[in-house]
Amino acid sequence: MTATGPHPLPQRLIEGYSTFRHNRLPRERERFEEMARDGQKPEIMVIACCDSRVSPEVIFDARPGELFVVRNIANLVPPFAPDNGLHGVSAALEFAVQALKVKHIVVMGHGRCGGVHAFVRRMRHPTGPHPLPQRLIEGYSTFRHNRLPRERERFEEMARDGQKPEIMVIACCDSRVSPEVIFDARPGELFVVRNIANLVPPFAPDNGLHGVSAALEFAVQALKVKHIVVMGHGRCGGVHAFVRRLRHPTASDALSPGDFIGRWMTLLSPAAEALPGQNGEDDFDYAERLARHSIRNSIENLLTFPCINILHSKGRLQLHGAVFDVTTGVLEAL
Ligand SMILES: [Zn+2]
Ligand SMILES: [Zn+2]
Repeated sequence: MTATGPHPLPQRLIEGYSTFRHNRLPRERERFEEMARDGQKPEIMVIACCDSRVSPEVIFDARPGELFVVRNIANLVPPFAPDNGLHGVSAALEFAVQALKVKHIVVMGHGRCGGVHAFVRRMRHPTGPHPLPQRLIEGYSTFRHNRLPRERERFEEMARDGQKPEIMVIACCDSRVSPEVIFDARPGELFVVRNIANLVPPFAPDNGLHGVSAALEFAVQALKVKHIVVMGHGRCGGVHAFVRRLRHPTASDALSPGDFIGRWMTLLSPAAEALPGQNGEDDFDYAERLARHSIRNSIENLLTFPCINILHSKGRLQLHGAVFDVTTGVLEAL
């Protein structure tokens, strides 16, 4: 990445990460090491809006490893559609239910949802939703009594004036990598898309339902964010599954019977083709390298969107890449 290389991280994120590293990381270090060794085991999946005011980790006072999070515009879940489309939410659902075996799926909407307000109706299940899991009720109570009083004025102001985040973050659903936790962000600061393996598809103006592209358009054209950060992470289940399938195509593939993940992960193919394996390199090491390379590929895909390309070339929009090490809690800018 030379001509279009990523910018250094925005100052706000550098400061927030420094707070995380000095305050929270020392308290969570053992937990991160344990989760790096044993993998994530979240029991709760949350589907929330990208809106910068509604971070699930903040609202439910969640620790790293507790919530597997998908975020898209208006926290929508498409119906099951086994066609050839790239279904980000479906891929995440498949992974959460079949591989992680989560016990709860929470669809969390919010009031004053921008852009699509008029179109959003609360999702209804024929049998009606269950009450929230106990863990979320407790976390929300902590949020409501501790953090909300300190942020109340800010929430009221943001309800009146709308959100004005300057930074968009594209991150993985993985429960260990919450952008709001890692960057110590306040409500209203980060506009967040989360999908399996933090992938950005290339610009494709067809008739598909493109969740990431819709979020990019809204962030860049309506919110006029100044930064887009693609944040990957080590030990990403999605990337490792892709590498296993790539290198052992005949082995049984327990991860993806429904195959949404398989199709979603084909977004990694261009990055994999450009990154040959090294002599004697095992699957794990290759997947870790691929996860990093894929961030650069996603940044290149960002530039295929005309609105992003124009603003980027005028210097009004900066693109950034970063990798979070889930073992040490260390963030590295690319
Ligand atoms: Zn919303
Ligand atoms: Zn991941």
